[in-house]
Amino acid sequence: MAKKKWWRITVAMVCKECWSTNYFSSINKTTTSKLELSKYCKKCKKQTIHNSREKLK
Ligand SMILES: [Zn+2]
Repeated sequence: MAKKKWWRITVAMVCKECWSTNYFSSINKTTTSKLELSKYCKKCKKQTIHNSREKLK
């Protein structure tokens, strides 16, 4: 059995407007459930709100 750091998860930062995945971030699941960041989106060509999407392992 591999030792898993289950409390640290990788999340994709998804643009709220065009839903494209632009960034990846790692969050502590026990303290952070939702993450919202204002980042530059290449598709929208402006700063947009990016939501964290838990999808990677
Ligand atoms: Zn966008």
